[in-house]
Amino acid sequence: MNTPSATWQQALADAFGSVADLCAYLQLSPADLNLPEQASAFPLRVPRDFAARMQAGNPDDPLLRQVLPDLAELTDYPGYTDDPVGDLKAVAETGVIHKYRGRVLFIMTGACAVHCRYCFRRNFPYGELQLSGRQFESALTYVEQRPEISEVILSGGDPLLLSDAKLEQLMCRFAEIGHIKRIRIHTRTPVVLPERVTSALLRTFAALPKPVAMVLHVNHAQELSNSVNQICTELKLSGVTLLNQSVLLKGINDDGEQLRELSEKLFSFNILPYYLHLLDRARGVGHFEVSEAEAKILHQYLQRHLPGYLVPRLVKEQAGAAFKIPIC
Ligand SMILES: *Cc1c(COP(=O)(O)O)cnc(C)c1O
Ligand code: SF4
Repeated sequence: MNTPSATWQQALADAFGSVADLCAYLQLSPADLNLPEQASAFPLRVPRDFAARMQAGNPDDPLLRQVLPDLAELTDYPGYTDDPVGDLKAVAETGVIHKYRGRVLFIMTGACAVHCRYCFRRNFPYGELQLSGRQFESALTYVEQRPEISEVILSGGDPLLLSDAKLEQLMCRFAEIGHIKRIRIHTRTPVVLPERVTSALLRTFAALPKPVAMVLHVNHAQELSNSVNQICTELKLSGVTLLNQSVLLKGINDDGEQLRELSEKLFSFNILPYYLHLLDRARGVGHFEVSEAEAKILHQYLQRHLPGYLVPRLVKEQAGAAFKIPIC
């Protein structure tokens, strides 16, 4: 069974890194899966705490499907490209993506605690774009010189793969800028590697002079384990506002009842549903697509069954647009 790791770095190092190991753990035979013959350039990475929420022996488990390489990734779908959301055009300088008014996004690192097969960043050179020391100073200047920016978004990759000390230093510097009203963190790490939410990190959030919003990324209610519940409580006690974005994924969460259950469970974990995204058309992910017409039907189901504040906004990312486009 799972032995708790001493530190989050250790938990990350202990993550499953090969299909064979994950299959053995889940009592699945690789021969029964639709695996590619060659290991992907975007390799499997699954923390143990996340793998423990998968059902053994079930090749269709909705958590497994999010992380297991599939032969279908090699199929080319028309319109699926390496930079589907126009991020390369919106790069203001290294590590700085300024696409929407008032908010600027920083690529803190190219790494993630989990590798999601549907990720729109899977083919994108985020590793090369990430901020390093001197570039960080120049990014700070970028924000300081633009009083219209009120919110700094830390993204990646996953910003929570930086150390506590580094995060504290970065967030404090941003929070000191007078016109910055909020700091937002986009991360999947607390959900897949709850060990990452250390007491030092919680103290940093609690001590920051500006409010912190954290946008988590949960696609299925089965991801919401007791370990995640506990860290969400701690984050809330440290003053962090928790929001969630999901991606609509064929065979994983394209079901009204499952989406309803996800919203209900998110709320019970102190997380409010924020966005439900249509899939970004990155090369290699076409087999996950849910059509816009199906998405609308699912969204209407949620509207009929949930209070308005538990219905995520259904949106798609469009290169060059001024905001994420609502689908309705
Ligand atoms: C999604 C995104 C944001 C944030 O958009 P909100 O609608 O405020 O959540 C900001 N910058 C970039 C580049 C984004 O992709
Ligand atoms: S955590 Fe986010 S950025 Fe990282 S692989 Fe998953 S979807 Fe992509």
